[in-house]
Order: sequence, then structure tokens, then C-alpha cells
Amino acid sequence: MAVGKANEHRVLALAPNGRDARATCEILGDAGIAVTICGDMAGLCRELESGAGAVLLTNDALVLAGAAGALAEALGGQPRWSDLPVLLLASGGANSAIALAALEALPNVLVLDRPVHLPTLLSAVKTALRSRERQYELRDHLRELERTEKRLRASEERLVLAQEAGGVGVFDWDVVSGDVVWTSQLEKVYGMAMPEEPKERHDAWVRHVHPADRPGLLEGTRRWLDESDESDHQWEYRFIRPDGEERWIAGRSSVCRDSQNRPLRVVGTNVDITKRKGTEQTLRESEEKFRTFFQNAAVGATQLGLDNRFLEVNDQFCRITGFDHDELLGMTPDDLTHPEDRPQASSLLSAYLSGQGGGAYHVEKRYVRKDGRVVWVEVTAALVRDPDGTPVCSAGIIQDVTERKRIEETLREDDRRKDEFLAMLGHELRNPLAAITTGLRLLRSPHAEQHEWVKQSLEHQTRQLVALVDDLLDISRITRGKIQLRSEIVDLRTVAQNAAESTTDLMVEKKHAFTLSCPEAPLPVLGDPTRLQQIVANLVNNAAKYTPDEGRIELKLERVGDEAVICVKDNGLGIPADMQGSIFELFGQVDSATHRPQQGLGIGLSLVKMLVGLHGGSVAVASEGAGKGSTFTVRLPAVETTEALKEDRGRNATADGELFDILLVEDNHQVAQMLKIVLEERSHAVRVAESGREAIRMGRASRPKVVILDIGLPDMSGYEVAQTLRQEPGYADTLIIAATGYGQERDRQRSREAGIDHHLVKPIEYETIALLAREWRRTVRSRGSAAAPAGAGRAASESAPEGRGARVLVIDDTRVIAKITQQMLQQEGH
Ligand code: ADP
Repeated sequence: MAVGKANEHRVLALAPNGRDARATCEILGDAGIAVTICGDMAGLCRELESGAGAVLLTNDALVLAGAAGALAEALGGQPRWSDLPVLLLASGGANSAIALAALEALPNVLVLDRPVHLPTLLSAVKTALRSRERQYELRDHLRELERTEKRLRASEERLVLAQEAGGVGVFDWDVVSGDVVWTSQLEKVYGMAMPEEPKERHDAWVRHVHPADRPGLLEGTRRWLDESDESDHQWEYRFIRPDGEERWIAGRSSVCRDSQNRPLRVVGTNVDITKRKGTEQTLRESEEKFRTFFQNAAVGATQLGLDNRFLEVNDQFCRITGFDHDELLGMTPDDLTHPEDRPQASSLLSAYLSGQGGGAYHVEKRYVRKDGRVVWVEVTAALVRDPDGTPVCSAGIIQDVTERKRIEETLREDDRRKDEFLAMLGHELRNPLAAITTGLRLLRSPHAEQHEWVKQSLEHQTRQLVALVDDLLDISRITRGKIQLRSEIVDLRTVAQNAAESTTDLMVEKKHAFTLSCPEAPLPVLGDPTRLQQIVANLVNNAAKYTPDEGRIELKLERVGDEAVICVKDNGLGIPADMQGSIFELFGQVDSATHRPQQGLGIGLSLVKMLVGLHGGSVAVASEGAGKGSTFTVRLPAVETTEALKEDRGRNATADGELFDILLVEDNHQVAQMLKIVLEERSHAVRVAESGREAIRMGRASRPKVVILDIGLPDMSGYEVAQTLRQEPGYADTLIIAATGYGQERDRQRSREAGIDHHLVKPIEYETIALLAREWRRTVRSRGSAAAPAGAGRAASESAPEGRGARVLVIDDTRVIAKITQQMLQQEGH
């Protein structure tokens, strides 16, 4: 029904004739009441639809057939709040048949007796309109209620939707009765349906809480409800769903309490946060990884706040700076930076922290450590920005580059020295070359009397040049690891004498008093005689060179403990303390007015140091300073000459006047030389072959009585050498001893097959060789000249010839035991 507001207060009057209508309009209109006159009931019913405050009828109108029914029907369609008042003016009053019928058919009829007294009519109409007014209020109220209800419904729907969207399950727990209600979303969160029985729901939930979280959760809830007056409570716990799946839940609850703070009702939410927990875990792991990397990085790592203070530093940074972690937090890079580097570094840093320069920072500067030491660092940093690109902090990597800086400095220094060296080399070469050029010119002159002197000078200058070039080549070879010592046992006394001789000219020229003192006993060392002589000659030559004329030079050898000590002492220019280390470096020279005129290339001492090092020794200088002379001391490991060896010298070998002619086949030069010395000390004649082919050649040429044969040779095996030699005429009786590192039975078997008499495993003792040789000699003699079958190997123990005890070869590296065993065997007739 489209109801106009203006129509709501009008009176619809049914006035079939014009006179009644006019009279009614006038009366009500005078009282300020709007009237709409309807000509018949159908018109009135239509008007009703547009709204009306009351209906005014006369009994005449209802007399018409169907009129009352039509009105009743129209009124029956009113909304529930509407009870439209109908005023019926009836002749005969309320008891008239018409009035009774109207009262019966219509819901809200007021019957007025006709003729109606005018004030009565007006009063009745107003009363009807007022009652209608209250209906309108009721209507408005109902409408308001309806709207509120709609809004509530919408809001509830939105809440449910939001809960569903957010995965928020809600429960409502009546603490007093124990009843719990779950929302359907909570059922989804728990992965289970709410139990039928309201009181069982709380227990069901408790049963599914993870056993590890359950006690804490229940106790926490109990304390919140019983012991605190907090209205809210939140927690996180694990929930095991009926299907066994574990879920992380975040719960949040509010409690209503009574006046004594007793809990009455708890309403709370549960949200599944498993995903978030997983992300948190991943984040934690990632954070952990970063922390581990940050802390254990081999370089210093820092985080610097935009206020220029350290937010975080790692252990390596603490090591670089010497400060501990807590001391560094809150410090600024300026606090660490060397005062001289501070202005530049800090202006760069503030430009960088303000985001200029592309947000990258790279600088090399010095830090002053906590202990005051200065270290060079290389700092590389980048700004860390938030998603909007705003700088948050700076992450820096700090490397200690002190060593690199030192090397760079050394390289620069080396470069400088190299340039100086080249200049000096030019100078050093030009001097002898100038002398040679002049000499050659003089040789062309007719004054023959000068020629001899010129030739000597040319020789001298040429020797100088050769020595210079040799030194240069040596340095180059040693630094490239190309030099190889031809080591042997050398008596240092011989070395010193040769070195001294080579410097005679200079000594004589400068009128120095030179003394050489050597011990009486030999002073053997294992070394390369040429190189050892080079070492000593260099030092003696320097002493002569850097000592003013008529000085005193002393070369002294002595044995101190297990070292052979060579001492070269002069009373010359001396060396300032601060130069005593650097003169051993390549091109290192004392830069002083007194030294300079003597200077060479500054490589001699460096060569000495390298060569001494190759011999396993050391060299040092001592000088009390300028003008106080210098003492250079070389220490080399001395070789043991044991008393036992001395006693044995010649005895074993020459006991019955026979010496052996030995071919020693050994590719290790040093081992060969040492064994050679040992054998020669016993007066045997020893030849050394360092390869298989050389052994065969020397073996053919010399026919030795004994061959000591290494098996692993560079060109062929010792077995092949033995086989070849055994084929040679006169080799049937030769004693061939294998001296090898291989001692397994199959190696011994191969030795036997190759015609080797004895297979010894290194290291071998001289006594063993001597014993084997004597035994061999007796065997050969007892056989006369009858040769043993070529290629037949003999074991260390052989059966005795007919009628005699067994011949037993005793091999034991403890000589006394070997001797006792031998005597016992001899007593038994062997
Ligand atoms: P060179 O003699 O060619 O300069 P060296 O390497 O042999 O080169 O010596 C390096 C420097 O050590 C010399 O230049 C000299 O200054 C100093 N020096 C060496 N020996 C002596 C010495 N006996 N007395 C004083 N200074 C010496």
C-alpha cells in the first residue's frame, strides 16, 4: 500500500449524497481535520490504500448490499500494527441491527447515535485520530525494530563470514554449568564435530591438546580465571586433530565475572596458526643461518645504525679491533679510525649513510686497536633498505689488510731497490768493461813491456765480470728452486783454505793481516764443497772489502756441540744495528759515506744466506756499530764421526790384509756419497754408479769383487743389472748384495732369481756388508777358483761342504749379539 504521509491523518467519509458530504466537510474542516469524501464504498476502499486516520460512515452507507463486507475485507488487509478506527453514525445507536452487524464484521468500530451532537462527533473523530496516531507510533517503532533486526542479521552474517574467512573459531563456555558451544568454524579449526553433549565438549577439547602443552595451558587458564582479575587471556598451543594431524592454535578469551570476581562465562576465539608457525620456524632458521654466518665469517661483519653507531658486530670484528662485543656496541667507526684517516673516512661515511653515492661505501683506512696497535682495514658496506627503499641500517664487511699493506710496501721497497740495483749493475759492469776496453787498446800499442801487465789486468777484470754474472745466475736459480746441491761429506778445513786462497789478491792489495784458525781434527759437514767455498769466500771477501787498508781479518773454524761454526771477523767499517737484518736481503746495503765507495751489487750476503739455508744452517752478523768491525757467523750441522767408526776403520776390511773393490750402485747421490765415505774410511776402493746403465758399463770395465746394488734405479731395475752382470765373464764369483727398500718374500725371491747373493733392506750397516764379504771370501777360497754357477742365488745360511759343520751367516744389527752368536756357533763346530 503506497501511503502518503499527508493522507495518514485524513478522515475518509462515505457520503453518498452531496448535502451530507458538504456538511461533513464543513464541520470537520472547521475543526482543522482533513476530510476526503467518498461517493461509495468501493471508492472508500480504494482511498484506504492511500492512507487514512479514520473512517466515518453512516448506517445508510452500510445498508447497501455488500458494503460492510467490502470494508471488512479492505480493513482485513491492513498491516498488523494497523487497527483503523471506523466511526459509525447509526440511527438507533449501537443496538441497531446495522450497528451490531458492523461491530461484528469490523475490528475497531465506534457507534455514535444519530443524530449526533456536533461536539460529540468532533470529539469522537479526534479521539479516533489520536488512537490512530499511536498506531502510527507503533508502526514506526516496529519498522525501526525491523530495520535494527535486519542490520543485526547482516552484521551477524558478516561476522560469520569474517570468522570463516579468518579461520576464527569461537567458543562460548558457561563456566558455572560447564556447557560449551563451538561455532562451525571452530569445528573446522579442530578438525572435529562438536560433541553432542554440551558438558563433554570441554573435556573433548582438553583430550586433544598436545600432551606437552596441556599442563601449562590448563594451569595458565586456571590461574587466569581463579587468581587474576584480568579480563583477557591469550596463549598458543598444539592441537592433535582426530586424524592425528598436529596444528598450532592461537587462542584469545574474555571472561565475564560476578561481583565477587568469580568467572561466569568465557567467550574466546581459536585460530589455526600452523602456517604462521611454519613461516616463523623458517624465518628463525634463516635468521639462525644468517647469525651463524655473521658470527663465524672469516671477515669482520658489522651492522651500523643510521646514527653511525654499531648495532651488531661479529667475533672476527672484535678480533680485528681488540674490543669486545659489548664495548663495540654503541661505538662509532670514528672511535676506531686512526686520527689521520678520520676526516676523509668520516665525510665519506656520512655521505654514504645519507644515501648519497648509490648507497655503497668502500674505503681503506687504519684502525687503532684497543691495545694501541694500528691495523689496516678494508671496509666495504652497503645500505640495507626497507621495502619502500628507505635506508634502515648499513651492513659492512671489514677485512684486516695489514699483511697485504705490508707486502705492498715491501714490493714498493723491492721495486725501488731493483731500480737502484739496475743502476748499480750498470755501474759495476761499466767499470771492468772500461778497464777491458782500455786494456785492449793498450795491447795494440807498440810498447810490449806493458802487455804482460795489461793481460793480467784483463784477466782480473774478466774474472770480476764472470763472478758477477755467476752470482746473479745463482740468485736467480736459488729463488726459482733450480739449484741442486751436490752434497758429500766435506771437511770444512779444506773449504776454508780454498776460500782463503781465492781472496789472497785482495788481502795483499789492501795489506790486511789475515789469519785462518782451524781445529786439528777434521770438521766434516754434509754439503756441496763448491757452494760451501762460495759462502766462506764471500764473507772473507766482504771483510777485506769493508775494512780499511791494513786491517785485521780472521777466519776461524770450530766445532760447537753438533754444529760446525765458521766465523769471519774484521775490524773494519762495521754495520749499524738497524741495518744488520736488511743486509741479508737482496740488494740490501749499508747506505753510508764510508760503505758506498766499496759497494757492489748487494747480492753477496743474500746469496750466502740462501746457500747456508740450503745446507740446513744459519748465518748471523754482529757488529757494535759504525767503525767497530763486524763478525759474520755461519752455523752448519756437523756430521758425526763416531768413535766406533774410527775404531773400525780398516780393521774389518783389512783384518787379513784384503781390501775389496766395490761397485756401489745407488741413484740417491747423498746416500751414495755417505756410504762411499764409510766404505772408503775402511780403505776399500769404491766406485759409484748412479744409474743401471752406468753400473753395467762400470761393472764391465772394472770387474769389482763386491757389488752393492740399489733395486729402484731410474733407468732399469737392480734385478736387471744383476742379471746382466752375472752373464759377464768373471762375474760368477762376484758378491752381489741388494740394498733396497723392498723386503717382502717375493722381492727376495726375485733377488735370488736375478743371481743376487744377499737381499738386505735399507738402512744397511757397514758391519753387515763386511761380514757378508768376509764370509763370501772364505767360501770362494774354500772352493778354490771353482766358480759358483752363474746366476745361482745363495741364501744367507748355506749348508756346509762335506765333513764340516754347517756354515752359518749371522746377521744382526747389534754387533755384540752377532759376535756372541757367532762364537757359540763356532764352539759347536760350525
Ligand atoms: P755488496 O758487498 O755487493 O754490496 P753484499 O750482499 O755482500 O753486497 O753485502 C751487503 C752489504 O752489507 C754491503 O753493501 C755492505 O754495506 C754490508 N757489509 C757486508 N759485509 C760487511 C762487512 N764485513 N763490514 C761492513 N759492512 C759489510
